[in-house]
Amino acid sequence: MGNTYEVIIVGGGPAGLTAGLYASRARLRTLLIEKGIFGGQIANAAHVENYPGFPDGISGLELGELMHRQATEYGLETVAAEVYGIALAMGGTVIETTEGDYLANAVIIATGAEFNRLGVPGEERLTGKGVSYCATCDGPFFKDRVVAVVGGGDSAVEEGILLTRFASEVILIHRRDQLRASRLLQERAFANKKMAFLWDTVVEEILGDERVTGLRVRHVKTGESSTLDAAAAFIYVGQRPNTDCIGKLLSLDEEGRIPTDGRMETEIKGIFAAGDIRKNSSRQAITAAGDGATAAISAEKFLIQQ
Ligand code: NAP
Repeated sequence: MGNTYEVIIVGGGPAGLTAGLYASRARLRTLLIEKGIFGGQIANAAHVENYPGFPDGISGLELGELMHRQATEYGLETVAAEVYGIALAMGGTVIETTEGDYLANAVIIATGAEFNRLGVPGEERLTGKGVSYCATCDGPFFKDRVVAVVGGGDSAVEEGILLTRFASEVILIHRRDQLRASRLLQERAFANKKMAFLWDTVVEEILGDERVTGLRVRHVKTGESSTLDAAAAFIYVGQRPNTDCIGKLLSLDEEGRIPTDGRMETEIKGIFAAGDIRKNSSRQAITAAGDGATAAISAEKFLIQQ
């Protein structure tokens, strides 16, 4: 088979790109497969402040590009393709992609996670017409408008603060009366005069014909429904691990993440998992990068023992 590599990495976020850097520097013939842009979810972050080495912060897009450049300088090959299957065959692992099949001696799965849908009427129909999962991408379209953010975690609060750069007001809608986000982000959000909070409130419907015009919300304690005018709804209600390509190859935990040992090896020898896809991941760019490094070092040891 022509497309044979010692290591194939699925996913080009911080975990995959760091694994690519380490595997390439170990002089292993390594391919990284990514369907979108390099950097994964971090590429959507306007300003990353908690990646060591960048005391003034760095845009997520630039961080992803730098990681990609660093890894490819050591020989990492990349292909733009979507992986739809991973199967044991031909004495290794076959990776089925939209650009054809590849064979690997060792595989590192670093497919990360994607933002959950809220699952309310109007959401799907108005996606791209005011419903968004990326404040960095779509925030500038809502200059001087009122926008809503749904969720109470780090993503909702961080992206809400970002949106205050453009919007006249950002209304954060949270289903409880306490945020889940880190204290630092909470302090910033509460100090921001453009941010307002709707507590104990859930979204029942996103309204609008051609574009979002508002949201129908319900107070969970009083049961009262009301309509909120807003030009956009940015949804940040948690994340779903990207395991579709794995099928039934590996067993997953109750959250749909892949269990590994401390060396990032899964239940199948020679198949590793790194980053947000991994059970017990701290879900930070820096911990994903650490996982990627460990996975590549473990893959190298596995290949030596073959
Ligand atoms: P998350 O921490 O899982 O928070 C999801 C939020 O959405 C929670 O507040 C949750 O409410 C709410 N929610 C979930 N389902 C909902 C529903 N059906 N309706 C209404 N609200 C719903 O997700 P995340 O904010 O995307 O963060 C994921 C991980 O990435 C975390 O580990 C986080 O620390 C990390 N992260 C870090 C940074 C950073 O370091 N700057 C930035 C972004 C993300 P409850 O609170 O009631 O459960």
